[in-house]
Amino acid sequence: MRVAVAVGVSTPPVATMRSSCTRRIVAVSYRFVSMHMAAAPLSRTLSTESVAARLTSAGLLRTKGLIGANWTDARDGKTMPVYNPSTGEVIADVPFMGSKDTEDAISSAYDAFPAWSKLTATERSQLLRKWYDLLMANKEEIGQLITLEQGKPLKEAIGEVNYGASFIEYFAEEAKRIYGDIIPPTLNDRRILVLKQPIGVIAAITPWNFPLAMITRKVGPALACGCTAVIKPSELTPFTALAAVELALQAGIPPGVLNVVMGDAPAIGDALMANTRVRKITFTGSTAVGKKLMAGAAGTVKKLGSKFRNSGQTCVCANRILVQDGIYDKFAAAFSKAVQILQVGDGFSEGASQGPLINDAAIEKVESFVEDAVSKGADVLLGGKRHSLGRTFYEPTVLGNISSDMIVSREEVFGPVAPLMRFKTEEEAISIANDTNAGLAAYIFTTNVQRSWRVTEALEYGLVGVNEGVISTEVAPFGGVKQSGLGREGSKYGMDEYLEMKYVCLGDMNRK
Ligand code: ADP
Repeated sequence: MRVAVAVGVSTPPVATMRSSCTRRIVAVSYRFVSMHMAAAPLSRTLSTESVAARLTSAGLLRTKGLIGANWTDARDGKTMPVYNPSTGEVIADVPFMGSKDTEDAISSAYDAFPAWSKLTATERSQLLRKWYDLLMANKEEIGQLITLEQGKPLKEAIGEVNYGASFIEYFAEEAKRIYGDIIPPTLNDRRILVLKQPIGVIAAITPWNFPLAMITRKVGPALACGCTAVIKPSELTPFTALAAVELALQAGIPPGVLNVVMGDAPAIGDALMANTRVRKITFTGSTAVGKKLMAGAAGTVKKLGSKFRNSGQTCVCANRILVQDGIYDKFAAAFSKAVQILQVGDGFSEGASQGPLINDAAIEKVESFVEDAVSKGADVLLGGKRHSLGRTFYEPTVLGNISSDMIVSREEVFGPVAPLMRFKTEEEAISIANDTNAGLAAYIFTTNVQRSWRVTEALEYGLVGVNEGVISTEVAPFGGVKQSGLGREGSKYGMDEYLEMKYVCLGDMNRK
């Protein structure tokens, strides 16, 4: 659960609004973004077929799993369709893999580990850098794939490629800085050292809202450390993952270092959990699945890194916007006015800044949250219903007068809905903000320096943006507290997740 807190009557409401929910994490999907883009006309809409054909000819529409050097069907030949959420058309079928295929992928990663981990840090760094260069050189194509299978507007999808690729660049550089430690010994004939070594095979299970970035922020540090990986992307968005590993192969990253399986998620998950060769699971997704994976990993004592989001299209968007009483009305009016100009449409149409929700379940959830809020007294300041475009398009919505008994203020909202809550005192705002089991990101907007520190320190969140709503970067640690996660991604702290420490004691060192 995320909150944005706008505190202080002196804060200009328009600035507050722009920073809170109208701009967001680089390339975060769906929500209230890029208002300045909204004026452009709906002039160019590409068809699923034409985009798919172009990507196929570029060699980037891979439709099979990757095990070692081989693009592979499921052992039993089963397939599943992947849809364009904007049009409902099938983009292509991919293999519906299960536990046997997962075993094959784990073996492949396990066999590739010794050689990969023994490369020098510089060699791994250079290969990762080449991968980064290829991702950037194919930015348009990967962006198109993201829009095709995930629905977010093309500009935003290309933004995700920049953001996602930055993790590969950053960890290519960090690969050379995995320093150990030398500790002063307690006996004078001893020497005490700490080595940092790669864990081994890791499994990365990722969601659909960032089809590229969720993968790169996991496998970037893993590969930099010398680990090899089995990736299981979301079944809703496997193509971006497959194109990314195709480019990794082209960059010269040896076959087997990256493997991709998709299909029967619980069967794949169980196979990854049960296998002792998999030393770490890194997961981003729902709390329910995260808990299941934690329980499964206990059996083989795997290291865990998880980031849970309950069910939203993005995981760091403001889920509740707390606005101080004195500026509430002015804020609500200015905010609604700004949200009103956001253009909803197919991700390939120019000017659209709001794509479709990912599937029927998502839009039904949004509807039920809004219905619940309205039945308990919320005001619909804007939107509040399905968009006339049909399918899973929903109108950008602003709800006022939100109270904490409404589901929308307790669970992650599943789409473009901004609930505004009124508060009077700083203490009250902190108490509302912390009254949740989740704790990923919070944002505070104030011109009072002392207050910004006080509130930042009091917020039980893993990330806090102060007068800024766009804070995710590869150089800073990203992760939540409470039930929003374990571990951190990005930065030097993100590297530690993929390393084991080894204490080495050299004895008898005074002998001549
Ligand atoms: P969301 O639907 O919000 O993306 P999920 O937690 O359902 O969140 O999905 C996140 C990732 O976890 C996806 O790749 C999904 O396929 C995968 N997943 C879902 N159920 C399981 C499971 N039982 N074991 C392993 N992975 C799972």
